[in-house]
Amino acid sequence: MRLAVLAGLDAPPLTVVQPISDHPTTSPVSISMPELPEVETMVRGVRAAFEGHRLADVSLCDCHCRPILMQPDFPRLRELCIGQKVSSVTRRAKRILIQLESGAAFVIEPRMTGLMLLSDPPDESHLRFEWKLTQGRKRHSVWFWDRRGLGTLRLLDPDQLAAHLGPEKLGPDALEMTADEWVARLRRTDRPVKVALLDQKLVAGIGNLYASEILHRSGIHPEVPASRLTGKRIAKIHAATLEILHEATRYEGSTLGDGTYRNALNKDGSYQNKHRVYARHGQPCVTCGNGEIQRIVQAQRSTFFCARCQKR
Ligand SMILES: [Zn+2]
Repeated sequence: MRLAVLAGLDAPPLTVVQPISDHPTTSPVSISMPELPEVETMVRGVRAAFEGHRLADVSLCDCHCRPILMQPDFPRLRELCIGQKVSSVTRRAKRILIQLESGAAFVIEPRMTGLMLLSDPPDESHLRFEWKLTQGRKRHSVWFWDRRGLGTLRLLDPDQLAAHLGPEKLGPDALEMTADEWVARLRRTDRPVKVALLDQKLVAGIGNLYASEILHRSGIHPEVPASRLTGKRIAKIHAATLEILHEATRYEGSTLGDGTYRNALNKDGSYQNKHRVYARHGQPCVTCGNGEIQRIVQAQRSTFFCARCQKR
Protein backbone atom coordinates (compact mmCIF):
# COMPACT_ATOMS: atom_id res chain seq x y z
CA MET A 1 0.00 0.00 0.00
CA ARG A 2 1.29 3.43 -0.83
CA LEU A 3 -0.13 6.69 0.41
CA ALA A 4 0.67 10.15 -0.77
CA VAL A 5 2.73 12.13 1.67
CA LEU A 6 1.70 15.66 2.52
CA ALA A 7 4.21 18.06 1.09
CA GLY A 8 3.86 20.71 3.82
CA LEU A 9 7.22 22.21 4.66
CA ASP A 10 6.48 23.47 8.12
CA ALA A 11 4.64 20.53 9.49
CA PRO A 12 5.59 17.38 7.63
CA PRO A 13 4.05 14.25 9.07
CA LEU A 14 6.47 12.27 11.13
CA THR A 15 4.96 8.89 10.50
CA VAL A 16 4.05 8.11 6.93
CA VAL A 17 3.79 5.13 4.73
CA GLN A 18 6.89 5.26 2.62
CA PRO A 19 5.95 6.22 -0.92
CA ILE A 20 9.43 5.67 -2.27
CA SER A 21 9.89 2.94 -4.79
CA ASP A 22 13.44 2.05 -3.80
CA HIS A 23 12.45 1.49 -0.17
CA PRO A 24 9.19 -0.44 -0.41
CA THR A 25 7.53 -1.21 2.87
CA THR A 26 4.13 -2.11 4.20
CA SER A 27 4.55 -0.62 7.66
CA PRO A 28 4.82 3.02 8.73
CA VAL A 29 8.35 4.27 9.18
CA SER A 30 9.79 7.45 10.53
CA ILE A 31 10.81 10.22 8.21
CA SER A 32 12.61 13.28 9.40
CA MET A 33 14.31 16.16 7.71
CA PRO A 34 18.01 16.78 8.09
CA GLU A 35 18.77 18.89 11.15
CA LEU A 36 21.95 20.62 12.30
CA PRO A 37 24.10 17.46 12.69
CA GLU A 38 23.13 16.08 9.29
CA VAL A 39 23.68 19.40 7.50
CA GLU A 40 26.99 19.91 9.33
CA THR A 41 28.00 16.43 8.11
CA MET A 42 27.10 17.40 4.54
CA VAL A 43 29.20 20.58 4.86
CA ARG A 44 32.22 18.70 6.20
CA GLY A 45 31.79 16.06 3.51
CA VAL A 46 31.94 18.45 0.56
CA ARG A 47 34.13 21.25 1.95
CA ALA A 48 37.45 20.01 0.53
CA ALA A 49 35.86 19.45 -2.86
CA PHE A 50 34.80 23.11 -3.06
CA GLU A 51 37.19 25.32 -1.14
CA GLY A 52 39.91 26.83 -3.29
CA HIS A 53 38.44 25.28 -6.43
CA ARG A 54 37.05 27.17 -9.37
CA LEU A 55 33.58 26.60 -10.84
CA ALA A 56 34.21 25.51 -14.42
CA ASP A 57 30.49 25.05 -14.97
CA VAL A 58 27.20 24.12 -13.35
CA SER A 59 24.44 22.06 -14.89
CA LEU A 60 20.91 20.91 -14.29
CA CYS A 61 20.66 17.15 -14.18
CA ASP A 62 18.20 15.28 -16.31
CA CYS A 63 15.52 14.75 -13.65
CA HIS A 64 11.90 14.26 -14.61
CA CYS A 65 10.47 14.81 -11.13
CA ARG A 66 9.07 17.96 -9.58
CA PRO A 67 11.86 20.55 -9.97
CA ILE A 68 13.54 22.02 -6.92
CA LEU A 69 13.12 25.72 -6.22
CA MET A 70 15.98 27.67 -7.78
CA GLN A 71 16.79 31.37 -7.51
CA PRO A 72 17.58 33.07 -9.84
CA ASP A 73 16.56 30.96 -12.83
CA PHE A 74 19.20 28.59 -14.10
CA PRO A 75 20.61 30.62 -17.05
CA ARG A 76 21.12 33.68 -14.83
CA LEU A 77 22.51 31.62 -11.97
CA ARG A 78 25.00 29.96 -14.31
CA GLU A 79 26.11 33.31 -15.68
CA LEU A 80 26.73 34.62 -12.15
CA CYS A 81 28.85 31.74 -10.91
CA ILE A 82 30.92 30.39 -13.80
CA GLY A 83 34.62 31.06 -13.37
CA GLN A 84 34.21 31.98 -9.71
CA LYS A 85 36.50 30.54 -7.07
CA VAL A 86 34.90 29.07 -3.94
CA SER A 87 36.23 30.70 -0.79
CA SER A 88 34.42 28.70 1.91
CA VAL A 89 31.72 26.16 2.67
CA THR A 90 29.90 26.66 5.96
CA ARG A 91 26.61 25.89 7.64
CA ARG A 92 23.91 28.32 8.80
CA ALA A 93 21.24 26.48 10.82
CA LYS A 94 19.98 23.79 8.42
CA ARG A 95 21.44 25.38 5.30
CA ILE A 96 24.69 24.90 3.40
CA LEU A 97 26.50 28.07 2.29
CA ILE A 98 28.99 27.96 -0.57
CA GLN A 99 30.72 31.33 -0.60
CA LEU A 100 32.15 32.62 -3.88
CA GLU A 101 34.92 35.19 -4.22
CA SER A 102 32.48 37.60 -5.89
CA GLY A 103 30.62 37.92 -2.57
CA ALA A 104 27.66 35.88 -3.79
CA ALA A 105 26.92 32.55 -2.15
CA PHE A 106 24.93 29.44 -2.90
CA VAL A 107 22.45 28.70 -0.13
CA ILE A 108 21.18 25.14 -0.21
CA GLU A 109 18.38 23.89 2.00
CA PRO A 110 18.09 20.11 1.84
CA ARG A 111 14.61 20.20 3.49
CA MET A 112 13.23 16.66 3.57
CA THR A 113 15.32 14.51 1.27
CA GLY A 114 18.11 16.67 -0.16
CA LEU A 115 21.71 15.45 -0.11
CA MET A 116 25.10 16.83 -1.09
CA LEU A 117 27.11 14.09 -2.77
CA LEU A 118 30.64 13.60 -4.01
CA SER A 119 29.87 10.39 -5.86
CA ASP A 120 27.74 7.31 -5.93
CA PRO A 121 24.18 8.73 -5.72
CA PRO A 122 21.45 6.47 -4.26
CA ASP A 123 19.97 6.66 -7.77
CA GLU A 124 20.71 8.85 -10.78
CA SER A 125 17.11 9.79 -11.48
CA HIS A 126 16.98 12.20 -8.54
CA LEU A 127 20.22 14.04 -9.20
CA ARG A 128 19.26 17.70 -9.51
CA PHE A 129 22.28 19.93 -9.88
CA GLU A 130 25.96 19.55 -10.61
CA TRP A 131 28.86 21.82 -9.71
CA LYS A 132 31.82 21.14 -12.00
CA LEU A 133 35.04 22.23 -10.34
CA THR A 134 38.64 22.58 -11.41
CA GLN A 135 41.89 23.14 -9.61
CA GLY A 136 44.82 23.20 -11.99
CA ARG A 137 44.29 20.19 -14.22
CA LYS A 138 42.06 18.34 -11.77
CA ARG A 139 38.36 18.25 -12.47
CA HIS A 140 35.63 16.85 -10.30
CA SER A 141 31.96 17.34 -9.51
CA VAL A 142 29.68 17.73 -6.52
CA TRP A 143 25.98 16.98 -6.82
CA PHE A 144 22.74 17.97 -5.13
CA TRP A 145 20.38 15.00 -5.02
CA ASP A 146 16.77 15.27 -3.85
CA ARG A 147 14.15 12.55 -4.05
CA ARG A 148 11.08 14.56 -3.08
CA GLY A 149 12.29 17.80 -4.61
CA LEU A 150 11.43 20.01 -1.64
CA GLY A 151 15.00 21.25 -1.37
CA THR A 152 15.97 24.73 -2.51
CA LEU A 153 19.06 26.12 -4.20
CA ARG A 154 19.74 29.84 -4.33
CA LEU A 155 22.61 31.99 -5.49
CA LEU A 156 22.34 35.23 -3.52
CA ASP A 157 24.29 38.46 -3.52
CA PRO A 158 25.41 39.91 -0.14
CA ASP A 159 22.25 42.00 0.34
CA GLN A 160 19.99 39.10 -0.52
CA LEU A 161 22.01 36.87 1.79
CA ALA A 162 21.64 39.28 4.69
CA ALA A 163 17.87 39.39 4.14
CA HIS A 164 17.56 35.64 3.64
CA LEU A 165 19.58 34.64 6.71
CA GLY A 166 19.00 37.69 8.91
CA PRO A 167 17.53 37.75 12.43
CA GLU A 168 13.98 38.20 11.08
CA LYS A 169 14.31 34.75 9.50
CA LEU A 170 16.71 32.89 11.77
CA GLY A 171 17.65 33.08 15.43
CA PRO A 172 21.12 32.29 16.77
CA ASP A 173 22.60 28.94 15.81
CA ALA A 174 21.90 26.23 18.39
CA LEU A 175 25.65 25.67 18.84
CA GLU A 176 26.39 29.36 19.32
CA MET A 177 23.52 30.62 21.44
CA THR A 178 24.75 31.98 24.80
CA ALA A 179 23.33 31.01 28.19
CA ASP A 180 21.74 34.46 28.54
CA GLU A 181 20.12 34.21 25.11
CA TRP A 182 18.69 30.79 25.99
CA VAL A 183 17.03 32.26 29.09
CA ALA A 184 15.78 35.42 27.37
CA ARG A 185 14.43 33.60 24.34
CA LEU A 186 12.69 30.70 26.09
CA ARG A 187 11.17 32.91 28.80
CA ARG A 188 9.59 35.07 26.10
CA THR A 189 7.13 32.40 24.97
CA ASP A 190 4.30 30.51 26.64
CA ARG A 191 4.41 27.74 24.06
CA PRO A 192 5.31 24.22 25.24
CA VAL A 193 9.09 23.98 25.37
CA LYS A 194 9.23 21.29 22.67
CA VAL A 195 7.30 23.52 20.27
CA ALA A 196 9.53 26.49 21.14
CA LEU A 197 12.67 24.50 20.32
CA LEU A 198 11.37 23.95 16.78
CA ASP A 199 10.97 27.70 16.16
CA GLN A 200 13.93 28.60 13.93
CA LYS A 201 13.59 32.27 14.86
CA LEU A 202 14.05 31.38 18.52
CA VAL A 203 16.98 29.00 18.03
CA ALA A 204 18.18 27.79 14.64
CA GLY A 205 19.14 24.26 13.70
CA ILE A 206 17.04 22.03 15.99
CA GLY A 207 14.25 19.96 14.42
CA ASN A 208 11.78 17.37 15.57
CA LEU A 209 14.18 14.53 16.21
CA TYR A 210 16.80 16.32 18.27
CA ALA A 211 14.21 18.39 20.18
CA SER A 212 12.83 15.19 21.74
CA GLU A 213 16.32 13.87 22.50
CA ILE A 214 17.46 17.20 24.02
CA LEU A 215 14.45 17.42 26.35
CA HIS A 216 14.93 13.82 27.42
CA ARG A 217 18.53 14.45 28.35
CA SER A 218 17.46 17.64 30.15
CA GLY A 219 14.85 15.74 32.20
CA ILE A 220 12.15 18.19 31.12
CA HIS A 221 8.61 17.28 30.08
CA PRO A 222 7.93 18.50 26.52
CA GLU A 223 4.62 20.14 27.47
CA VAL A 224 6.05 22.54 30.08
CA PRO A 225 5.43 26.14 28.93
CA ALA A 226 8.84 27.60 28.03
CA SER A 227 8.12 30.77 30.03
CA ARG A 228 7.79 28.72 33.24
CA LEU A 229 11.25 27.11 33.04
CA THR A 230 13.69 28.05 35.80
CA GLY A 231 17.17 29.29 34.94
CA LYS A 232 18.58 25.97 36.18
CA ARG A 233 16.35 23.97 33.82
CA ILE A 234 17.17 26.22 30.87
CA ALA A 235 20.87 25.68 31.63
CA LYS A 236 20.19 21.93 31.34
CA ILE A 237 18.60 22.44 27.91
CA HIS A 238 21.59 24.54 26.83
CA ALA A 239 24.07 21.88 27.96
CA ALA A 240 22.05 18.99 26.47
CA THR A 241 21.73 20.82 23.15
CA LEU A 242 25.51 21.20 22.85
CA GLU A 243 26.18 17.61 23.93
CA ILE A 244 23.63 15.99 21.67
CA LEU A 245 24.27 18.07 18.55
CA HIS A 246 28.05 17.59 18.86
CA GLU A 247 27.66 13.87 19.53
CA ALA A 248 25.27 13.43 16.63
CA THR A 249 27.68 15.28 14.34
CA ARG A 250 30.52 12.97 15.43
CA TYR A 251 28.29 10.04 14.41
CA GLU A 252 27.55 11.81 11.11
CA GLY A 253 23.86 12.29 11.90
CA SER A 254 20.88 9.96 12.02
CA THR A 255 19.75 7.76 9.13
CA LEU A 256 16.23 6.61 9.93
CA GLY A 257 14.23 3.66 8.69
CA ASP A 258 13.41 5.39 5.42
CA GLY A 259 17.14 5.37 4.60
CA THR A 260 17.03 8.83 3.05
CA TYR A 261 19.73 10.76 4.86
CA ARG A 262 23.27 9.84 3.75
CA ASN A 263 26.64 11.49 4.08
CA ALA A 264 28.53 12.91 1.07
CA LEU A 265 29.82 9.44 0.23
CA ASN A 266 26.31 7.94 0.25
CA LYS A 267 26.87 6.19 3.59
CA ASP A 268 24.47 6.03 6.56
CA GLY A 269 24.99 8.17 9.63
CA SER A 270 24.96 6.18 12.87
CA TYR A 271 23.50 8.40 15.58
CA GLN A 272 20.14 6.61 15.17
CA ASN A 273 21.67 3.85 17.31
CA LYS A 274 22.08 6.33 20.16
CA HIS A 275 18.52 7.70 20.22
CA ARG A 276 16.90 7.32 23.62
CA VAL A 277 13.34 8.41 22.87
CA TYR A 278 12.85 9.30 19.21
CA ALA A 279 10.47 6.81 17.53
CA ARG A 280 10.87 4.44 20.50
CA HIS A 281 7.28 4.74 21.75
CA GLY A 282 6.04 1.64 23.53
CA GLN A 283 9.57 0.58 24.39
CA PRO A 284 11.09 0.68 27.87
CA CYS A 285 13.10 3.79 28.68
CA VAL A 286 16.81 2.97 28.50
CA THR A 287 17.63 5.89 30.77
CA CYS A 288 15.59 4.97 33.87
CA GLY A 289 14.68 1.37 33.08
CA ASN A 290 11.17 1.89 34.53
CA GLY A 291 9.26 4.19 32.23
CA GLU A 292 7.80 3.49 28.83
CA ILE A 293 8.46 5.91 25.99
CA GLN A 294 5.30 7.76 25.03
CA ARG A 295 4.35 9.54 21.85
CA ILE A 296 2.21 12.67 21.81
CA VAL A 297 1.46 15.15 19.03
CA GLN A 298 2.44 18.80 19.51
CA ALA A 299 1.97 21.37 16.76
CA GLN A 300 1.22 18.47 14.37
CA ARG A 301 4.58 16.82 15.06
CA SER A 302 5.27 13.71 17.10
CA THR A 303 7.06 14.14 20.39
CA PHE A 304 8.63 11.22 22.25
CA PHE A 305 9.42 11.25 25.96
CA CYS A 306 9.61 9.30 29.20
CA ALA A 307 7.20 10.63 31.86
CA ARG A 308 9.39 9.15 34.62
CA CYS A 309 12.59 10.88 33.53
CA GLN A 310 11.02 14.08 32.27
CA LYS A 311 9.25 16.19 34.89
CA ARG A 312 6.75 18.98 34.50
ZN1 LIG B 1 12.93 7.15 31.70
